[in-house]
Amino acid sequence: MPIAKKKTAAKNNTIKLKFDTSWSYAPAPESKSAATIKPQYDLFINGEWQKPLSKKYFDTINPAKEEKLSEVAESGPADVDKAVNAARHAYEKVWRKMPAKERAKYVFRIARMVQERARELAIIESLDGGKPIRESRDFDVPTAANHFFYYAGWADKLEYAFPNRVTEPLGVAGQIIPWNFPLLMAAWKIAPAIATGNTVVLKPAETTSLTALKLAEIIEESGLPPGVVNIITGAGETGAAIVNHPDINKIAFTGSTDVGKIIQKAIAGTGKKVTLELGGKAANIIFEDAPIDQAVEGVINGIYFNQGHVCCAGSRLYVQESVAKEVIRKLKDRIESLIVGDPLDKNTDIGAINSKQQLATIHKYLDIGKKEGAEMYQSSCALPGKGFWCRPTLFTNVAQSNRIAQEEIFGPVLAILTFRTDDEVIEKANNSPYGLSAGVWTDKGSKIFNMTKRMRAGVIWANTFNKFDPSSPFGGYKESGFGREGGLHGLSAYVNLIN
Ligand code: NAP
Ligand code: MG
Repeated sequence: MPIAKKKTAAKNNTIKLKFDTSWSYAPAPESKSAATIKPQYDLFINGEWQKPLSKKYFDTINPAKEEKLSEVAESGPADVDKAVNAARHAYEKVWRKMPAKERAKYVFRIARMVQERARELAIIESLDGGKPIRESRDFDVPTAANHFFYYAGWADKLEYAFPNRVTEPLGVAGQIIPWNFPLLMAAWKIAPAIATGNTVVLKPAETTSLTALKLAEIIEESGLPPGVVNIITGAGETGAAIVNHPDINKIAFTGSTDVGKIIQKAIAGTGKKVTLELGGKAANIIFEDAPIDQAVEGVINGIYFNQGHVCCAGSRLYVQESVAKEVIRKLKDRIESLIVGDPLDKNTDIGAINSKQQLATIHKYLDIGKKEGAEMYQSSCALPGKGFWCRPTLFTNVAQSNRIAQEEIFGPVLAILTFRTDDEVIEKANNSPYGLSAGVWTDKGSKIFNMTKRMRAGVIWANTFNKFDPSSPFGGYKESGFGREGGLHGLSAYVNLIN
C-alpha cells in the first residue's frame, strides 16, 4: 500500500493526502520449494530422456542472481538427426493414422496437466528467465494451457475450419523459439502442430530451456506416443541443424529478424514450408481525445511488461502535441512507482533482464539515444547488487530518424515522439522496417477504424495493449515476418489443403 505521509486539512475542510512516492511493500516472495529443478537435463527424444551424442552440456542460470540453476544437453547434428528420425517414425507409423478425436484427447490431457502444474511452471519460468512471477503466473502459464485447450478443440473439427476442403498434415515440423515467453511460445507452436497430425522437434532458446524441459516431462507423463513431440536443447547451431535437416517439412521460427533472414535463405528451393514471427517496433498512438490516465497505464503495460522483452512491445509512443506535456509528466510519475527487483516477489513489476548479453545491447541503445540528442529519463529506483537489471527508461525529444525510434531494443526503453494530424502520425507509424503490432488510444470509434485500416501492422489494439487470446491470430507485416499463429490462421500453417 502507498504510505500516506501526512494528512493536512485544507482551508475548505477537504482532506488532502500527501503520498510518499517510495511505495513500500513488504516482500512477498513465492516459495522456490514448489518447483523441482534437476541438476542436469538430457534430451527428450522418442519419449525417452537420452544423453546427448555430443556429450556436451551447458549451464542455465538465474539472471536475477547470476547463479547456476542446472545444466542442459547441447544437441549436435547427430542428436538433431535422431530427433528428426523419431518424429518421422512417429508421424508415419502412429500419429497421422490416429483418428483425430483420439489425438485431441492427448492435447486436452496436456492442457490439463499444464494447469495442474501451473505453480511449478510459473516459478521455474521466473527463475530461469527473470520475468516477474505475477506475469508468469497470471499470463504465460494460463495462456499456454489455453492454447492447448483451444487447439485440442479443433483437432476433430478440421472440416469446419476448412469447409468443403480435405486437409492433410505437413509431416515433421522443426520449431525454434526465443527466450522471452519460453513456455508460451512452445505451446503456441506444439499445440496446433500436433492437433493437426504433425510431429515435432522443438528447440527452446539456450538461456531459457527449463520450462520446455518441464513440458517434456508433462508430455512423457501424458502418455503421448513416443516421438510425436521431441524437445532438444542447444544454441543457434542446433537451430540451424534443424532448419537444414532434409527430412523436415515445415519450419516454425520465432526470434530475431536477422536469424529469420538466414532461415529463409537456407530453405529457399527446398520445398519446406515456413512461418516466421520476427521482431517489432510497435507504435502506440495517443490522441488528444483519449482517456489519458487509461492510455498512460496502457503505455506502461505496453513497454515495461516483461522488461520490454516483447516482440510486440509498444516501444514507440506518438502523442498528439496538445496533450504531450501531460502524458509525459504522468508517464514519469508512473515509472517512478514501478517496482524493480526479485522476479519471485509478487509485488515486482519489472524483473531481471534475461541475460548479460541482452543487458549490454540495451545499454548500447541508451548511449546511442543520448548521443543522438534525445533526453533520457529513468526511474530513480535502487537496483539489486547482483544480476542483470535496467531501470524503466524513457526518451523525449526523439526524432523519427533516430536509431532508438527505428531499431528494436528489446528492453524497458520507450521513445516518445509527438504529432499534430492523423496523416502525419500514420506516416510516422508506418515509417519502420517492422509491422508487427500497434496501439491507438482515442475516444472516437471512427478514428480507430480509420487508423487501423491505414496502419501496416499485424495486430492493432484499440484503447488497450498486449491482449492475447488463442482464438486470435498473431503475426507481422514487412520485416516482422509472415504467417500467423493463433486462431484458425494458426491451424492453416500446419495443413495442406488437398482439394
Ligand atoms: P534469436 O537470436 O533470433 O533466437 C531465436 C531462436 O533461434 C533461439 O532458439 C536461438 O538459439 C535460435 N537461433 C539462433 N541462431 C540460429 C540460426 N542460425 N538458425 C536457427 N536458429 C537459430 O532471437 P532471440 O534473441 O532469442 O529473441 C528475441 C527476438 O525474437 C526479438 O527480435 C523479438 O522481437 C523476436 N520475437 C518475435 C515474436 C513474434 O511473435 N513475432 C515473439 C517473440 C520474440 P539460441 O538463442 O539458443 O542461441
Ligand atoms: Mg536462464
